[in-house]
Formats: sequence, C-alpha cells, structure tokens
Amino acid sequence: MSRLLAFAVCTFAAAGAVAASTLVTPRDIAPRGVRVRNERSTNDERNVLYTLPFGQRLRTEGPLVNGWYPVVAPDGRSGWACAQLLRVVQADEIEFTVRFIDVAGGEAAIVNVGQTAVLIDGGDDPAYLAQYLRQGGLLRDPMKLIIVTHRDHAHWEGFSRLARLLGKDSQQTGLWLPESDPQCKDGRYDQFVDSAKHLPRVSTVMHGALFADNRDAHHHPRNPSVFDVRLPFAPEIDLTLLHGGASATGAAKDCEARADNASLVFALTIGESRFLFTSDITGRDPGTSTQWHVPKYGEGTLLELEKKESGLLTADVLTVPHHGADTSSTPEFIKCVAPRKGALVAVIPATHHMAEDVVIKRYRKKKAIIFRTDEHGEYGNDHVLCVKRKGERLDCRNELHPSRLPPPPIPPPHAGPAGCD
Ligand SMILES: [Zn+2]
Repeated sequence: MSRLLAFAVCTFAAAGAVAASTLVTPRDIAPRGVRVRNERSTNDERNVLYTLPFGQRLRTEGPLVNGWYPVVAPDGRSGWACAQLLRVVQADEIEFTVRFIDVAGGEAAIVNVGQTAVLIDGGDDPAYLAQYLRQGGLLRDPMKLIIVTHRDHAHWEGFSRLARLLGKDSQQTGLWLPESDPQCKDGRYDQFVDSAKHLPRVSTVMHGALFADNRDAHHHPRNPSVFDVRLPFAPEIDLTLLHGGASATGAAKDCEARADNASLVFALTIGESRFLFTSDITGRDPGTSTQWHVPKYGEGTLLELEKKESGLLTADVLTVPHHGADTSSTPEFIKCVAPRKGALVAVIPATHHMAEDVVIKRYRKKKAIIFRTDEHGEYGNDHVLCVKRKGERLDCRNELHPSRLPPPPIPPPHAGPAGCD
C-alpha cells in the first residue's frame, strides 16, 4: 500500500467509542504487520515505534481518533495504529473453556469457543477418549480441528478409531498431523495417518511439512519458522505455530528424543488469554546440569525465537513440557514464558508420574500456579478446567469428570515410538 493511500484510508474510518478491554490485531490484508507510530501520520517513516506482527494483539488506550487507535507498544510507549488495517477484538466478550484432560495415558486438551471445539492430542486409549468426551458432554460443539502434536502413541492413539469418534452426524473436521521422521520409521503412526486421510468426515489434512508449503490465505509466515494461522471456523482464536516437524529436532540422536523434540508447539490467543502448548519438547540431555546450561533442542529453538521477537513465548497458561520431566522446563525457558504481570498458570499433564518435584519447585520459584491433571488421584477422571466468562477473569481449577468414569487400563510407561530401540 502506498503511503498516500494508507493515509487516505486511515482518515476515512469512522470514529466511535471503544471499551477498555478492546484489543486490536492486524487484519488479513496486513500480514506483514501494522506499524505503531508516535503520531497520526503515515507520511514520515521515522515515526515508527513498533510493528505489530500478524497474530499479536495490542490493547487500545481510548477511542478511535480520525481513523487511528491509541495503543501501547510492548515496551510501554504510547502510539497510534491505523484502524483500517486492524481487526478489533472485544476481548471481554469472548467466552471459552480449555480443558486439560487426564485421558488414559499421555495428553489431551479440548478448547471450546464460540460454536467450535478444537482437540489437541488424544491420549493413548481410543475407547476411553470417546467415552470421556461423550459422557462429559464435551462434544456439544462441532469438532472442527484435531491437532496431533507428534507421533508418540500417548498423544495420537486416542484418535486411532477416528471414524467412530467423529460419528455419522459430525461436521467436517480438519486434521493436523506432523510429518514422519525419515530417520525413525514408525509404521503404526504412518498407517494411522494414511487411514485418517481417507475418512469421509475429514475435510483438510495438514501433513508433512505442515505450514512450510502452505500458501492458503489463512497461513501467514512471520519468519521462516513461525506461522500465524487464522482459523476461519473460530475467529476468536489466533494460533501462532512456533516449532515442529522432523526438521526442528536439533541434534537429538535417539528416536524417542527426536520424536519428542519434533512436537508442534503453538500459542493460542483467545481474547486476552494466551495458552502455550509445548507437548513433549525437552531442553537438555539426561544427566546434564541446569546450572549454567544453555537450553538445547525444542526449548533451545524456542528461546532463539524469543531473542528475535521478545514476548513470543509469554503465556498466561502453559502446558508444562514433557509431562513435567526434568530434562524439560529449563529455568531459562520458564523465565521467558512467565508473564510480566500476573502469575503463570502451569498445567502438568501428569500421567505416568513423570512430573518431578525438582521441576515443580522450578515453577514455584517463578510464582507459577500449578495444576496437575492427576490432582485428585482418581486416574482417568481428573481434569484441569480453565474458563473465561464475560466480565470475569480467566479462572483455572481442578475438576473431576461429571460421570465419574471407571478408570481405563493403566498404560505402559511413557515410551518412544515403536521400532526405535
Ligand atoms: Zn508425551
């Protein structure tokens, strides 16, 4: 857009009052971001304070003035952003729930917002996942997207009877399935991916290099490894993909570590709340110290991204990486994720008793509020519920499944993909 046109468009936008909780974020027409300027003019390139990237949100400081929103840049400086390039998010109006489910072994979460459900991982017991969701009334909203973070059976096997889970009456559902690692073949996962692609209720399948080759209008690369994704069926959610795929495994040499560090890591921003899903990434090798240690692997890669763009990892709610294992949650990583204001809510998908006391202490040191999916010790019935209602703050708490299901079979210890010995 030329400077002249941008100026003309800006002065065209209508004036109007905005509520205190109004946020702005770049519209699809501005995938390279929107400049925040120290005055209401696009005529001087020297007045740029900050470029608001696609997928991030800034709070407005007051009503629209001649087509410009007064906003605060992340460094605290006040500036102006052109309204025509911005989408307004009335954050306080958005109601949602995010449940972290103790479903068999592994990890699973369900996000309900608007009329949509998004499932993130499915544990490792297909029968139990379906029962858990149906009897808990957790599938009232159509399931529009299923994300498998990586090929560890404890994260995808819950979807292995996907046709039955989706049901005859379900709407079309999209699937994100990370690529297979050519260095570590896993026949069962590959078979699952192949069969899922041909199911009638499955609409789009994002498989392989995921977003690297995706050119559709909803995927915007912020840099070669970070993608902002708009979900057309859930405009309340901004998804930023930060990490994932076989190419993201760093130097991890054994197959289990490679699979864990290939996990998709992404942030979901809903209203003013930001959730960071880290799946099974790690930060160091077993037996190495956390003292004076530069994080490696998944956490190391994420911290490099944070160096380039401050605040990228900041979250209100974090799924503690790799079920609370000590080779993840390096102090540097926790420090980066902790929000500047308010406490970090750290959810430990604490299956297999992997969460280690030393890790929990690390989070407590940063004043994080910790919730475990095995809090009540009622295996298979515990879950952590984060809920946001109009006019209220985000609230997280432990809950038991309303139907008090019989416990599923105890899964084998957390293991790497088959064939990786
Ligand atoms: Zn896992």
